[in-house]
Amino acid sequence: MEQVTLRSVDKYYGDFHALKDIDLSIDNGAFVALVGPSGCGKSTLLRTIAGLETISSGEIRIAGERVNEIPPRRRNVAMVFQSYALYPHMTVERNMTYSLRLRRTSKPEIDALLKSAATTLGLDELLARYPRELSGGQRQRVAMGRAIVRQPEVFLFDEPLSNLDAELRTRMRGEVRALHERLQATSVYVTHDQIEAMTMADHVVVLRFGRIEQQGPPLDLYDHPANKFVAGFIGSPAMNFLPATIGRNGDEVVVDGQLASLPLSRRFAPGRTVEVGLRPEHLQPRERGPLVADVTVIEATGNQAYILADARGQQLAFLEQGRTALRRNDTVALGIDPGLVHLFDPDTGDTLRPLSS
Ligand code: ATP
Repeated sequence: MEQVTLRSVDKYYGDFHALKDIDLSIDNGAFVALVGPSGCGKSTLLRTIAGLETISSGEIRIAGERVNEIPPRRRNVAMVFQSYALYPHMTVERNMTYSLRLRRTSKPEIDALLKSAATTLGLDELLARYPRELSGGQRQRVAMGRAIVRQPEVFLFDEPLSNLDAELRTRMRGEVRALHERLQATSVYVTHDQIEAMTMADHVVVLRFGRIEQQGPPLDLYDHPANKFVAGFIGSPAMNFLPATIGRNGDEVVVDGQLASLPLSRRFAPGRTVEVGLRPEHLQPRERGPLVADVTVIEATGNQAYILADARGQQLAFLEQGRTALRRNDTVALGIDPGLVHLFDPDTGDTLRPLSS
């Protein structure tokens, strides 16, 4: 069942069109990530669901009810912010129960909800402390605890982990996901970090300039990006893009400057100019071409080597697992499985459709 639905939602700030014709259905219990570059409208979209921003047109429904005119506190959603937004003069316990006390929830009920949330989040020992006496990860847990005690229908997370260092961030990522598995509550999670989105969410929504570029399960976006923007945004390190031309028979593509062609698994219009997309992890050194490049930079981290090379005038990045035998200035031949070659229209950036056979 759909828990949150947005239909043709537009949002203007004065003349600025911040959200453009957003259609989004979020199933009950789903974990959805909103990703995209800075300023693409992720937080605005989240805030419209929370009711912190009004929309200019369209409709938002939560649990079947139209909420356009319903104020935030009556939407049964709880938001967890990047800044934690804890009250510095209140203990962890007071912070966590604040909204319940405002709602005049009974003392036994507050105690039960607090105990359950504190145990879930491993905060039992910290209830008497003040926010300044907590680590970043603990503060973030209190912020989540404050959301959990409200038993909301929908959790809204606005970059909750971005103030944490890399290691803690990875650990908290696992914790938030585990929490989701336990509570099974619908969650919408904003991040500009595509790895966070890919590893945490069942459904990823990629936004650019206030518009949804593509949405779907994370690996579908990786395997079948709808356009060059999504192809470049999803996946790390980023996909290589090279100008190229489809060969005479339509079943191969010649990268500009290269002599040999890359075989394709489908047929495309012969002679058409295209942009080829090749993921660094899909390119493999081979005895012979089809791509030839000179190594310019090697970044080895022990478990893999990220290598930059000059492919006859185009920069090309590829990954080798483990140690690499390559050295700077070596000439390397690279190949790729035909099914992993992506092709884009150089004018629109859209993924090219094969000719129907
Ligand atoms: P970031 O990752 O940098 O937080 P975001 O994708 O969350 O970015 P939003 O905060 O949703 O982006 O902002 C989307 C656009 O709307 C931006 O261009 C921003 O400048 C603009 N914007 C946001 N709030 C307002 C406002 N109150 N008035 C005018 N413009 C705004």
